[in-house]
Amino acid sequence: MEGLKIESKLPNVGTTIFTVMSALATEYKAINLSQGFPDFQMPEELVRLTCNALQQGFNQYSPMAGWMPLRESIAAKIHDLYGVNVNPDTEITITPGGTYGIYTAFTTVLRASDEVIVFEPAYDSYIPNIEVNGGIAVRIPLEFPTYRINWDEVRARITPRTRMIALNSPHNPTGSILRDDDIEQLRQIVQEYDLLIMSDEVYEHLIYDGEPHRSILRYPDLRERAFVNFSFGKVYHCTGWKMGYCIAPPAFMAEFRKVHQFNCFSCFTPAQVALAEFLKDREAYRGISNFYQQKRDYFAKLMQQTRFKPLPSYGSYFQLYYFDHLSDLSDKDFSIWLTKEHSVACIPVSAFYQEATDNGVVRFCFAKKEETLERAVERLVKV
Ligand code: GLN
Repeated sequence: MEGLKIESKLPNVGTTIFTVMSALATEYKAINLSQGFPDFQMPEELVRLTCNALQQGFNQYSPMAGWMPLRESIAAKIHDLYGVNVNPDTEITITPGGTYGIYTAFTTVLRASDEVIVFEPAYDSYIPNIEVNGGIAVRIPLEFPTYRINWDEVRARITPRTRMIALNSPHNPTGSILRDDDIEQLRQIVQEYDLLIMSDEVYEHLIYDGEPHRSILRYPDLRERAFVNFSFGKVYHCTGWKMGYCIAPPAFMAEFRKVHQFNCFSCFTPAQVALAEFLKDREAYRGISNFYQQKRDYFAKLMQQTRFKPLPSYGSYFQLYYFDHLSDLSDKDFSIWLTKEHSVACIPVSAFYQEATDNGVVRFCFAKKEETLERAVERLVKV
């Protein structure tokens, strides 16, 4: 039957590459190093605390902004890590995942034709989030192959309509991170042009080689302009929980909550009760970067047996590899071919560009058990 049609608000958007590649991996029984999620169990203690919360009857709505003891634990953790005070009452909201927090931040701020600076490759939700709110994404490529920001280009692309700048460190998909000189440039630019910041910090603890995470929360002049988004799923190995939080100054957060309260209202209570307790143990988060650095290094060492050539990964779940000396296929076709013919799934980096920029690199997720990485590399050596 020819049903009624609606005019698409996102005419150029298809199904996200993560869903596409994970489905292909399942279909071809491939080892899935595409979508970013761990294949190992989350901390047993967190499982236990969650079961307890369920049994003890914490099963009704939590407050709209989130379970207060959890917000207090987050504030304590931020003080411990970044040496700053965040008010749990007015500056923290628990969200159903990092992506939701990012979406809500854009929805809170953007009006028709407002421009947002987005660096490509960009996590694939940002631009649709901006456009569905009537905003315009001003896309600036990160410099290849360092994937660093060209701040002169940022200055050149600012207009009277520029409202926000979207940042992501550690960066998905490239594993690049913001450095001190980036922060310095950012400070000057947001001040000079009066810009707001959306900072995606879902990989905050996944940063390697002793580098500090330069959270926007550390810098008072940046923090006062920013919505900073975090994820529990990414850092405590429970991406299926879809739990995270947003931190913003009180006046921003009041507006954020106006949007949030009529969208999901509040998040899964048992997980909030459990996380409130779990986060009191500093070891719960202080060991994460070391844990993932070992995974990155283990995967990199195994991959030396293959003909793929690595780009550096300074953070996140991901490492990029050049394949263009191995194949003439586009990165998308190569990823599909690899999944079908060699039973290892990866993500083409061009999927993170609006106008598919193909630099001959693909993204592998190393947030996997050692045996999974070993089995994947046994297959990749044949390429
Ligand atoms: N952030 C994950 C990744 O980059 C995907 C999350 C999702 O599929 N929505 O792989």
